[in-house]
Amino acid sequence: MKSALLKHSLTLAFVVIAGLTSTASDYPYQPVPLKQVAVLEGFWLPRFETNRLVTVWTDFKKSEETGRISNFARAGKLEDGPFKGIPFDDSDVYKIVEGASYTLATHPDPKLDAYLDGLIAKMAAAQEQDGYLYTARTLGFLNGMTGKERWSNMGSSHELYNIGHLYEAAAAHYAVTGKRALLDVACKSADLIDKTFGPGEAKRKGTSGHEEIEIGLCKLYRATGEKRYLDLAKFFIDMRGRKDLRTLYGAYNQDHLPVTEQAEAVGHAVRAGYLYAGMADVAALTGDTSYISAIDKLWENVVSKKLHLNGGIGARHKGEAFGDNYELPNESAYLETCAAIANALWNQRMFLLHGDAKYIDVLERIAYNGFLSGIAISGDEFFYPNPLASRGGYKRSKWFGCSCCPVNDVRFIPEIAEYIYATRGNELFVNLFIGSTADVKLDAGSVRIKQTTGYPWNGKVRLEIVGNGGKPQSFALKVRVPGWAVDRPVPGDLYSYAEAAGNKAAIAGLNPKLNGKKLKASESKDGYMTVKRKWKAGDVVELEFPMSVHRVKAHPEVQADKGRFAVERGPLVYCAEGADNAGRVLARVFPGPVQFSAIEKPGLLGGITTVQMREGSSEPLTLIPYYAWCHRGPNEMRVWFPTAPETGSDAGKK
Ligand SMILES: [Zn+2]
Repeated sequence: MKSALLKHSLTLAFVVIAGLTSTASDYPYQPVPLKQVAVLEGFWLPRFETNRLVTVWTDFKKSEETGRISNFARAGKLEDGPFKGIPFDDSDVYKIVEGASYTLATHPDPKLDAYLDGLIAKMAAAQEQDGYLYTARTLGFLNGMTGKERWSNMGSSHELYNIGHLYEAAAAHYAVTGKRALLDVACKSADLIDKTFGPGEAKRKGTSGHEEIEIGLCKLYRATGEKRYLDLAKFFIDMRGRKDLRTLYGAYNQDHLPVTEQAEAVGHAVRAGYLYAGMADVAALTGDTSYISAIDKLWENVVSKKLHLNGGIGARHKGEAFGDNYELPNESAYLETCAAIANALWNQRMFLLHGDAKYIDVLERIAYNGFLSGIAISGDEFFYPNPLASRGGYKRSKWFGCSCCPVNDVRFIPEIAEYIYATRGNELFVNLFIGSTADVKLDAGSVRIKQTTGYPWNGKVRLEIVGNGGKPQSFALKVRVPGWAVDRPVPGDLYSYAEAAGNKAAIAGLNPKLNGKKLKASESKDGYMTVKRKWKAGDVVELEFPMSVHRVKAHPEVQADKGRFAVERGPLVYCAEGADNAGRVLARVFPGPVQFSAIEKPGLLGGITTVQMREGSSEPLTLIPYYAWCHRGPNEMRVWFPTAPETGSDAGKK
């Protein structure tokens, strides 16, 4: 019982207060919650701070200016006026509330706390008597999306999508502040949904055109212990593809087959990522193995055939959708920031199910590349698509008509702190390399670990046990060996290093030390270096990942990357941008061997390491981390470099 409760300690305190005794199982591997992790230094700290101090408020201000917040006040009769915007705009505000709540977990902020209380009062006012919450309909805004009556157009209304984000926001706000106001709104809403949808003749058989409510209901279940919410999440997942019970939306909505028969990732990529994440949650909470075997297959399909080098998914602009297998274009790649986030949320859950480092390899690739490119260093400008080449047509925007991405950034960045460490029994996993301390509860007792690292610029990692509850603790420290450090940039064969350094499974090459002495260790099948011992305070493990620069080649089936190579250093994908190269990038060709040199540039783009790429006596090309592109105005950019002149002007074959 004790360990089951400790597993989800974001909700722990309040589960105890509520006196609930839910004994339902959850993920076998549990994250160390962000409340117990302090990010202290290094690459991510300024990003966390910018998110908290700039992006949260930028997003709230834009939501005020565009009517997103007035919609709640107007639906609640707190002010006069019509609905403004798009019916799914409600979800944007919920997402900011979720992200803002996470920041309060580590940085109490009375101003933000009070702002959230005011906003939540408007949301509560906007909720109809019976629990229905969808400001567009309450304000009489009817268009092709909304549908004449409640639930009459769920393929596109986003009625269930919006409240899925409400549930996530409510669970976060309650866990962090202990205040019930938004949780009460969420439960009243979910109770109405439970009365309306479900098995049995009296209830409707439907599901949302845009998945999200499944994740939200699982979080609401964890926050309250109310099993009806979990059953409802499973019901909505099981309704997909059930042509015997309802009219299907089709493959765009992952509604072409029952979920357990889906084996290829298709359709709108954000929708897909949220569905797969929701399936993982329900599988963890119910033990449904048919879901696990389906998402295992879908994951294999994505990582081996549909993953862009920057970790992005959703190749096509049309339908913001997955392409065919190996359809991985560069200039025309869509790769919405939200799809990167959805892919990361899914991969974290796959790790929590299976405990394998390969899922964190994908998550890390997303976090440092295809996600991070979506938000400017200043925290107040954004990308919606994240292509891998540009002729100069891209620039960052302050906001979008459909602004799902900026508000998703706000909730994803603080969550990264929760991806650093995880536990299972007496195993402590170090998954991400971020300077931090964490208070960790293992079966053996409490441990405080401190991590110091120069990642991703250098590969030095130092892990110190700084507290052990006053007595030595026996446990296994499991340090993730990033795939890129052992010549395995991605799980599967979609991308590989052109010149493997021979590091395969060679942990000795990482020079691991325990208390200054050489440590004999090997990489286990699950991708970790395991050190099992009786740990005492002051014990130190050190290792160093090799930060050599690699040329990357794609699987021969990827037409867009034929005869081309990309460049990576550590977890970072590099690109060349006009700003560093006299404006000319796309015309450069590299037929022969190239040499690389890495140069630290603390004053450039928030502090980066550039890579000079030189072929023979030609002028070197300066490369910067892909995430940092387009901070100096629109200009040429490319990730995949040709080895032979290409016919036509091509920044990336379509
Ligand atoms: Zn988006």
